[in-house]
Amino acid sequence: MTDQRGRLQIQPADGQLVLSGAIDETSALLELLGRAQNRRLVLDLAGVTFINSLGVRDWIRMQGEATRAGVAIELRRVSEPIIHQLNMIIATRGTARVTSFFAPYACDACGREESLLVDAVANAAGLAQLVPPQMPCPECGAPMAFNDFPERYFSFLAPS
Ligand SMILES: [Zn+2]
Repeated sequence: MTDQRGRLQIQPADGQLVLSGAIDETSALLELLGRAQNRRLVLDLAGVTFINSLGVRDWIRMQGEATRAGVAIELRRVSEPIIHQLNMIIATRGTARVTSFFAPYACDACGREESLLVDAVANAAGLAQLVPPQMPCPECGAPMAFNDFPERYFSFLAPS
């Protein structure tokens, strides 16, 4: 039962909604709150490639309404474009909890660059100290280096 809203696809799976494509003013994000179960809404954002300024506006409305309605939003596998928004515009964070997210890594040994999934719960202590978790290169196995500034990229995790 895929729900197509403009350039955004919404696919229910295992108690969560898997979002993919681009978020804009046609995405009707506020309506997603109606799909919360037991006041809990889990969004998988791995496939979200882009969000425009009107999408950001609706995203902030969704967060505000969730907080007012007592709906806990969990964001899983958050893609890099969404992390950049969470970092730039504090209001986009709302009261949602990010449990995992993608982060840029690069391998000094073989030159591979990759967006890797970081478990924000298992690595919470290190991330609070702005220490990126160690990741092996999928190509050559060497330890990869975090490819952004931790104090910038992890700022969305700071308590607001
Ligand atoms: Zn490598």
